[in-house]
Amino acid sequence: MIKEGSEVILSVRNLTANVDSTPILKGVNLEIKAGEVHAIMGRNGSGKSTFSKILAGHPDYEITGGEIIYKGNNMLDLEPEERALAGIFLAFQYPIEIPGVSNLDFLRTAYNSRLKHQGLEELDTFDFEDLVEEKLKIVQMNPSFLERSLNEGFSGGEKKRNEILQMALLEPSLAILDETDSGLDIDALKIVAHGVNQLKTPDNAYILITHYQRLLNYIQPDYVHVMHSGQIIKSGGKELALELESRGYEFIDEQILSEVGA
Ligand code: ADP
Ligand code: MG
Repeated sequence: MIKEGSEVILSVRNLTANVDSTPILKGVNLEIKAGEVHAIMGRNGSGKSTFSKILAGHPDYEITGGEIIYKGNNMLDLEPEERALAGIFLAFQYPIEIPGVSNLDFLRTAYNSRLKHQGLEELDTFDFEDLVEEKLKIVQMNPSFLERSLNEGFSGGEKKRNEILQMALLEPSLAILDETDSGLDIDALKIVAHGVNQLKTPDNAYILITHYQRLLNYIQPDYVHVMHSGQIIKSGGKELALELESRGYEFIDEQILSEVGA
């Protein structure tokens, strides 16, 4: 019998990618099973956001080798929209503002395209509003945010909550949160973490990208990976994040140097 929750959701093998012919990812390997939370840490510029955008299908990056298999399917053949419909969700480090498009309309369009893709009937405005009201509670967000233009004038914390709201509605199988903790005060951080913890199920998986350890005080990762110069150079459990916090990223450099015999 297959153990529930042990399905491989994402398998990344030897992934290499360029931007404007400059190599950024230099052989990333990662395997994620259902029910798992993986944290990816690393210095600024190590390739974390690049990796997350490539998973979501961002067109700026040229894949030069390797593979991304999501639920048994090769993602490299799919457009970003198709990946989203297949259940991959990326919360951006810098969410975009779209003046003139109300948050509610945006959410409903995204939600309904998912339903349509699944062959289900779309929700009308009233039913959708009822659903959103429920989900708003998860992120403790004021309903007035639904009427405003998407992300326009939202504070950093409000944008992040809004992304968790999108996640609560779309129920992705693989959610990638890129520095969702950056720019958050401690209360907003707790709300975001609480949202993730509530949305976590044995069937979905999370990648939390973070420069600092503090988000991991509130969301327990099953695995912690360190990205360095476009590769995952070290993986471990939660204790690796604590080690990074107390010793800084220098301890990784020391290890690399000692491994190459310098
Ligand atoms: P991190 O998220 O770990 O801070 P990034 O993935 O944002 O790192 O960046 C990794 C490297 O790739 C950096 O040197 C960055 O300047 C470069 N890079 C990323 N995206 C682009 C782009 N669109 N154009 C040029 N360089 C880029
Ligand atoms: Mg980044």
